Amino acid sequence: MKYQCHEINTLVVGTGCAGYNAADWLYDLKVPVMIVTEGRKMGTSRNTGSDKQTYYKIALTADNKDSIGEMTDTLADGIGVHGDLALIEAANSLKCFYKLVNLGVPFPTNEYGEYVGYKTDHDPKQRATSAGPLTSKYMTECLEESVKRKKISVLDHITIIKIITKDGKVAGALGVDKGNEFHLFSCQNLILATGGPAAVYKDSVYPASQSGMTGIALEAGARADNLQEWQYGLASVKFRWNVSSIERLASERGMTKQAASFKAIQK
Ligand SMILES: Cc1cc2nc3c(=O)[nH]c(=O)nc-3n(C[C@H](O)[C@H](O)[C@H](O)COP(=O)(O)OP(=O)(O)OC[C@H]3O[C@@H](n4cnc5c(N)ncnc54)[C@H](O)[C@@H]3O)c2cc1C
Repeated sequence: MKYQCHEINTLVVGTGCAGYNAADWLYDLKVPVMIVTEGRKMGTSRNTGSDKQTYYKIALTADNKDSIGEMTDTLADGIGVHGDLALIEAANSLKCFYKLVNLGVPFPTNEYGEYVGYKTDHDPKQRATSAGPLTSKYMTECLEESVKRKKISVLDHITIIKIITKDGKVAGALGVDKGNEFHLFSCQNLILATGGPAAVYKDSVYPASQSGMTGIALEAGARADNLQEWQYGLASVKFRWNVSSIERLASERGMTKQAASFKAIQK
């Protein structure tokens, strides 16, 4: 077999918000990084829509006091997120949010410059904000522009099919392109930003262009955590659209989402 070989310190797989953001940060931290993707325009971030996509962060208005500790507690309270991860997410919340603002994602402010929030998913603090139904598309596009400006290399149309390990550690990855040519990547770190497990949502909410690739990580021996946590809501399938107002309805009325969905369907 013939392979095209690539060598890099850190390989990022995927060009959704997660992949672009990871590569963008690593470049600033002076880590040599390369992105490889099955399809630059594929994935959930760029192709999905909802009545109002929500970005969750620390509350940022004068009348709504919040802190890293309180956000950590909220994230970990449901027992679906480990405390250390919740703390990292809360501690970096504002740094990450303002990065997106500076890159041009149009999150709305009031006349005083406050990022006014609303409540979602049992949120006690109005931490949610949104730039509208296509928030994650704007995030992807702004991050992509930043990656382009930094001239980070993006190899398109290559599907990663195997993670290569040596002595129980990641050593690289194997990909195949559209012309059935193989690509061998040698790397010290691999960031698998291939999105959620697409097949589970095939008949509901995921856009057709989301294929996912959790399996290769499990096959390579990665330990999975919290895979029991899922979110389901009402969705239209002919035109793929998620109805997240059900979540709002549920939290406003203190109902489970299932009960709120049932009420909405009855109506
Ligand atoms: C209808 C809907 C509404 C949503 N609303 C919200 C919301 O309000 N708030 C919120 O926080 N989240 C929401 N989400 C979830 C959120 O959109 C996703 O979790 C997020 O966009 C995933 O981003 P990602 O970068 O991890 O993956 P994706 O954006 O899916 O990107 C995956 C990338 O990996 C590439 N890829 C996949 N497999 C391979 C492979 N084997 N080799 C190479 N490349 C590969 C793809 O081409 C793509 O570029 C919603 C999701 C849906 C479907």
